[in-house]
Amino acid sequence: MTSPYQSLQHTEAVARFDLLTVEEYDIRLDLASDERTFGSVTTIRFTSRGGATFVDLKPTRVNEIRFNGVVLDPDLLERGRLPLDTVAGANELVVDAVMPFRNDGEGLHRSVDPADGKSYVYGMSFMDAAPTIFACFDQPDLKAPYTFHVRAPEDWVVIGNAPGSNPEKGVWEFERTQPLSTYFVTLVAGPYHLIRDEHDGIPLGLSARASVAKDLDADADELFTMTKQCFDEFHRLFGIRYPFGDYHQAFVPEFNAGAMENPGCVTFRDPLIFSSRVTRGMRIARATTLAHEMAHQWFGNIVTPKWWDDLWLNESFAEYMGNRVTADVTQYADVWSDMAYARRQWGLVADQRPSTHPVAGNGAFDASAALQDFDGISYSKGSAVLKQLNATLGDDVFFAGAIDHFTRHRFGNATMHDLFESWERAGAGDLSSFTSNWLRTAGPDALVLDRAAGVIRRTPPAEHPAERTHTFRAAVAVDGAWEDRTVEVTGPETPFVVPEGAPVVIDAYDETWAVAQADPATVRSLVPLLADVKDGHLRAGVWNNVRSALHNAAIDPADVLDLVVASPPVEDPEDTLRRTWTWVFSWVVPLAPTGAAARVHEAALEAMVAATPGSERQLAALRAAIRSADDEAILRGWLAVPPVGIDMDLDLRWKVLVRLAAIGAADRDELQRALDAEPTARSRVEHTLAVASLPDAEAKAWAWARFTGEVDVPNYELEAAASGMWRGGQEAITAPYVDRYFTDLPETVRVRSGWVLADAAEFYFPGNVLSEDLLERARAAAADQTLDLSVRRRLVDRADELARKLAVRKAFPHS
Ligand SMILES: [Zn+2]
Repeated sequence: MTSPYQSLQHTEAVARFDLLTVEEYDIRLDLASDERTFGSVTTIRFTSRGGATFVDLKPTRVNEIRFNGVVLDPDLLERGRLPLDTVAGANELVVDAVMPFRNDGEGLHRSVDPADGKSYVYGMSFMDAAPTIFACFDQPDLKAPYTFHVRAPEDWVVIGNAPGSNPEKGVWEFERTQPLSTYFVTLVAGPYHLIRDEHDGIPLGLSARASVAKDLDADADELFTMTKQCFDEFHRLFGIRYPFGDYHQAFVPEFNAGAMENPGCVTFRDPLIFSSRVTRGMRIARATTLAHEMAHQWFGNIVTPKWWDDLWLNESFAEYMGNRVTADVTQYADVWSDMAYARRQWGLVADQRPSTHPVAGNGAFDASAALQDFDGISYSKGSAVLKQLNATLGDDVFFAGAIDHFTRHRFGNATMHDLFESWERAGAGDLSSFTSNWLRTAGPDALVLDRAAGVIRRTPPAEHPAERTHTFRAAVAVDGAWEDRTVEVTGPETPFVVPEGAPVVIDAYDETWAVAQADPATVRSLVPLLADVKDGHLRAGVWNNVRSALHNAAIDPADVLDLVVASPPVEDPEDTLRRTWTWVFSWVVPLAPTGAAARVHEAALEAMVAATPGSERQLAALRAAIRSADDEAILRGWLAVPPVGIDMDLDLRWKVLVRLAAIGAADRDELQRALDAEPTARSRVEHTLAVASLPDAEAKAWAWARFTGEVDVPNYELEAAASGMWRGGQEAITAPYVDRYFTDLPETVRVRSGWVLADAAEFYFPGNVLSEDLLERARAAAADQTLDLSVRRRLVDRADELARKLAVRKAFPHS
């Protein structure tokens, strides 16, 4: 079973680039005629060297296609491609089509807000989705200016990549854009709540659904202030002004990614508009996302990678620059230690998988394969490596090279080689060894302390050997007092002698990229000590060392559990609980001795009681306590009488209801009443999660019908249903679906594509089963060449996680 559409291959992109120059797009959309489809008339003017090619088009139906004045037969359209026999010189293609509104977060996504029944639309052209909005040559290096004309319901506002006007009710005319790649052409349309501001000559805007208007208003100051601070800093560092006119930031419903950097009109997932109380860590995550998308206006939008094998030129730079600028100029100076919790393991785990790839030159042969490389390597590892490069080159050379790159390729495309040439012109010297060791070679070295031998051992990954030097600080506690030692690891063994039993945290402050692992003695000796560690970044280093060691079956989960239980009451920054809890539940509790869940729950309760009422630590601890509770009375007690300092807002009430459902203490009527009482978008997703979590066969069949597509639901509800499906303790009820996963998975390509195809394959993987049999079946399916490539990639990754957990259980059997 293959996808109904063909993804563009690199070789095809090269051929089409050699043939064509696109002069302009003129696009006329009618969003007012129908709720399921919209009208789309695209005129493309381009010059050609003459010869055969194709245009990308994925319509519901075609009204008329006119090419150089001649009507073409719509039946020529096959798997999303319309063949064109171009003439040398000027060509004009006019495609009049009806396109589908989608509900999977791609193309032109339309959703109805359950709170008030209002409809919202936004465009997500990335990665293969532009042709479901307009006919186009869908590849990053065929840039052209766009002019949009939109008809929309009269009470809607419409925002695009360029400034627009509203000459008459329901009619929107947009200025011609700068040259844009197809993948970041967008449109945001609906009865959005809009707030405007201005900074340094740049008109600024924010928008969100009307039903969350007051929440957007509450945070508008913070969002505008950060936007202004970041613009000033990017202008100072890059010396080139933001060139895309207005800068609008739209918070849109059911968005798959964190955000998308469309020039002039960035789209964000709207859970980032906080309707319930959140912790500082969630605000930091939003701040870095905002800065990340701004960095893309330069790295990505002014200069765009020629092909997806260089997507690190977008993501690694945006991640590094976004984090750096947030830390340097906004109120969130503690970004780097927060990132150590939030992002580092994401990158390290991805880099240790069989599916690892180099940061640069990932070899993406088609666009859909490239989508799978938007992972912890392209973001977290890429950012870490660029931070190292910046430290090596210094700001002067680093930014002189970047400015040279932006200037030479302004509104065009470039490759990694172009950027390295720019750096060399800026005086960087020969970067070839840095490039080959850190950017072109996949996989991380392992750094492990051998106490008996008095050395730190460096082990490169067997499949990707490299000679890498690591310079970092290790933290050592001598008689309970922490000291930092600078270490340079240049070979397989580096002398490192510590007093007997002293805990050692290798690369405690993320100064290199390596799998630094805690040794067993360190974990045990940390149990009484971690409480007194005041440095937030060092504590993050401790957890990263511990997580990496458990990931490699090097330490006993029983020891890890002792550390987890001993440490939550003292963690700071206060969001550590939130950052580590998912890992505790997926990696520590199932592998530690029986009774682990109860001990974790007790620790969370103690942390909550010890926390200052009203503090974020109290909130984080309560969340952890809810998630681990098995006692209906305590959960209902919190609903009836919240702990002092806690407002049982919508978020917390649903967390309790979901937990009650999972332990079989809530029924469908109660969940339905909660949804009816406050029918927000958030409630609808949480209701789905709760129903899928119920411990009965009906609930699992209900969740499964969403996976197979028998019941079609928007992307957020699909993900929620998957998250409730495979609860620990419900193995007997979910057992029949292990078989069904493997039989139904290949057919899901009939009902979904892109992001959600791969996400559903990952999230519906049997998550409560730890068995060799499942591992074998997962590996066999991953090797099945007839399966969609993105699905196979997720199977490889889930199989790796399972294999590692089985290795821990084998090394340290507890149950
Ligand atoms: Zn990005």
